Amino acid sequence: MVVKAVRGFSDILPEEILTWRKVEEEARRVLEAFGFREIRIPVLERTELFARSIGGETDIVQKEMYSFLDRGGDSVTLRPEATASIARAYIEHRLYSRDPEVRLYFIGPMFRYERPQKGRLRQFHQINAEVFGVAHPMVDAEVMALLVLLLSRCGLTEHELQINSLGCPRCREGFRETLKAFLEERTRKLCQDCLRRKERNPLRVFDCKVKGCQEVMEEAPLLEDHLCDECKDHFLQVRSYLEELKVPYSVNPRMVRGLDYYTKTAFEVVAKGLGAQKAVAAGGRYDNLIAELGGPEVPGIGFAIGVERLLLVIPSLPPPPPPLLFIATLGDEAERIAFRWCYELKASGITAAMDHRRRSLKSQLRRADKLEIPYVAIIGEEEISSGKVILRDMRQGSQQNIPLDTFVQEIRERLGPSVHEAL
Ligand code: ATP
Ligand code: MG
Repeated sequence: MVVKAVRGFSDILPEEILTWRKVEEEARRVLEAFGFREIRIPVLERTELFARSIGGETDIVQKEMYSFLDRGGDSVTLRPEATASIARAYIEHRLYSRDPEVRLYFIGPMFRYERPQKGRLRQFHQINAEVFGVAHPMVDAEVMALLVLLLSRCGLTEHELQINSLGCPRCREGFRETLKAFLEERTRKLCQDCLRRKERNPLRVFDCKVKGCQEVMEEAPLLEDHLCDECKDHFLQVRSYLEELKVPYSVNPRMVRGLDYYTKTAFEVVAKGLGAQKAVAAGGRYDNLIAELGGPEVPGIGFAIGVERLLLVIPSLPPPPPPLLFIATLGDEAERIAFRWCYELKASGITAAMDHRRRSLKSQLRRADKLEIPYVAIIGEEEISSGKVILRDMRQGSQQNIPLDTFVQEIRERLGPSVHEAL
């Protein structure tokens, strides 16, 4: 029996790799220009890190985590998101001790046990950015602006930035009761999960994907009418700074996001053409997370881009190019020489290839043609005795002789990096 990949875990093939790299390189370029430094966090964390930060009533913690007991009996989890891990690293290594403001980014895979479908995998990749140490609403606007900038640089054209304010624990306290009372009167229309959420964390009902629940929430009271003065003012300022930077946005008063640690600003970038999984990126402010994880009282804000989802809506790049030169051989001696030439050329950065299956010259040339290799050199007994090798330019259809003794040197000069780039 053939062993296949685990459901929801996919391979990223060479055909797709240049688009992946472009997105990653664009992310590094933009984020580093905005002062973010790369951090690399482990794939595995203690389960309690996520249970404590993401929130016990969220879908992620309730049903999506890859958790297991390791051989020592500790409960560990494959990271379902990066903010909690980055916050843990920030606290553990006291990254706040050098400068009050710390900007970090991370690119890597996340793991969630969800039903695989278009734009939803069990192993997927995120680009994460986090700013620790600044409560000022300018940073909220800057983070959203740079997210939109980065997505546009990657080729995303039709998208919308949606924002909301989730308030602070103080404003949410009162709102919880209002919302709970509202839901209490509509229990017949709520799904099983939401009946439980109503008791433990009624705000989560806004995030329910069940149609009946969403209909109920159309009429629900909104958090925006219950914000305390500080949160209301913060939100107004965030909006005015977005306007200052000329970043278009819309307010979505029902957006709560799938994580409990958010406070004040929450946002999402939705793209056209993605169907139900339309959020390519999402994030928010989390002013209590660091303290809740045992760190100092430090505010934070960040976002995550879903790379697979982004790739569904941006133009893809062609596959990586074929080798530049194919050396076709006839006979043992020629094969030995080609072997050395290929090695020397590859060592100097020129992609060269040859055949190792003792095929006829014709079939070697057919292979080079099929791979669309632009240059082909031919070497056989005749070439060895005459001291000249034929180099064919397959696109121009022209050919010329190159001295056997200086072949590698000549090829380096003719087809070396600068020439290669010009092709
Ligand atoms: P959704 O409502 O789409 O499930 P979420 O609230 O779970 O999103 P976050 O945890 O905020 O999303 O993750 C940020 C981004 O990561 C999402 O906007 C999306 O682009 C991507 N993402 C989340 N889950 C998956 C998944 N299972 N497969 C692929 N991408 C994902
Ligand atoms: Mg989700």
